[in-house]
Amino acid sequence: MALIVHKYGGTSMGSVERIKNVARRVAKWHAAGHQIVVVPSAMSGETNRLIGLAKEIQEQPDPRELDMIASTGEQVSVGLLAMALKSLGLDARSYTGWQVPVRTDASYTKARIASIDDTRIRGDLDQGRVVIVAGFQGIDDDNNITTLGRGGSDTSAVAVAAALKASECLIYTDVDGVYTTDPRVVPEARRLRVVSFEEMLEMASLGSKILQIRSVEFAGKYRVPTRVLSSLTDPLMPLDEEMQSGTLITFEEDEKMESAVVSGIAFSRDEAKVTVLAVPDKPGIAYSILGPIAAANIDVDVIVQNQSVAGTTDFSFTVHRNEFQKTIDVLNRDVVTQVGAREVVADPKVAKVSIVGIGMRSHVGVASLMFKTLSEEGINIQMISTSEIKTSVIMDDKYMELAVRALHKAFGLDQTQA
Ligand code: ADP
Ligand code: ASP
Ligand code: MG
Repeated sequence: MALIVHKYGGTSMGSVERIKNVARRVAKWHAAGHQIVVVPSAMSGETNRLIGLAKEIQEQPDPRELDMIASTGEQVSVGLLAMALKSLGLDARSYTGWQVPVRTDASYTKARIASIDDTRIRGDLDQGRVVIVAGFQGIDDDNNITTLGRGGSDTSAVAVAAALKASECLIYTDVDGVYTTDPRVVPEARRLRVVSFEEMLEMASLGSKILQIRSVEFAGKYRVPTRVLSSLTDPLMPLDEEMQSGTLITFEEDEKMESAVVSGIAFSRDEAKVTVLAVPDKPGIAYSILGPIAAANIDVDVIVQNQSVAGTTDFSFTVHRNEFQKTIDVLNRDVVTQVGAREVVADPKVAKVSIVGIGMRSHVGVASLMFKTLSEEGINIQMISTSEIKTSVIMDDKYMELAVRALHKAFGLDQTQA
């Protein structure tokens, strides 16, 4: 008997029929003698609908109240799933985040999980119940409801699995695993049988929406065996077959994985670029520009400082597109005059495309093949950023999909074996 956490995303919970299928699948695992905790998302479209309502009332919704609203989608899901399980004759109990409780910090709309009390969950499991915990939400030290950021149910599930020392966390979604890139953009993308934790971490942080980055961080920190698999298969498929399906995130790198130089391509349209023009080139300049940005709690991504000409230089960086206006406001208020720069110019329509692979550590020429491929497509690279296992480039966002398809082909990702 094992304790296993299942997570079902929005599409998987998207209709009454799908919820009934989730219940059938969970019942199958329970009947095989396992203790099951389920972490569902809101039904697909529901979180968007709730946020939309909030924005109709307040253009920039109050964060505390936004979390109050956005968290309700998952409350509906857990109740419906508990009922579906009961109709199949199982004993099930649903909980919201605050009932567990899932404790978080107080950063509304992007809270971090601090701790999870397992007392009630364990009590129910010991009595043979299936436990259903609402994803995406928690409660801060002052008992305010918080949410974990878009896609946050992944993180809820892996954190619950870590707290319970579950033997596996199964992330059921609308694709049958982690692919070489988003199959919606590149139909030739292939499923990876395994992906290393480090690669998954890079892919998630570089924009692959298949897993929320913090869920991958939790999986790594607590060594939670995590598998991404499809919820759209026959819920009664044989258990041993299901246990082998999808993509496993591994913490060990085997030789086979080394053979693929690039394992995946990630992309993100959530980028915006700002440039401070004609900044006096002297020590401390990066700090005087980025200090006020950090103080305003804005995350900076790629940074480039140009060669100085006649004592001045241009300083560019990217931020999340949501924080574009805020960034410009901070620069105009706290930086331009103070550092003696000429002005701020900005481009909110840039995208980041990244190639990721642990094989990049031991191979040369990977980045140059990337640049060659993009140049053959006539795509101008605006900024470059590299680490040991990834190379990212910033480009005009209208070329993003073309770039992803060309790179997918150039690196042979439609052919190599995982
Ligand atoms: P869920 O609602 O189950 O959490 P998401 O929509 O958050 O599902 O994530 C699944 C989607 O992620 C897929 O439908 C797919 O379009 C997208 N995706 C992006 N990158 C990848 C990738 N590398 N492999 C698989 N799916 C990906
Ligand atoms: N329902 C939330 C969202 O749409 C959380 C999730 O689906 O993981 O972002
Ligand atoms: Mg998701």
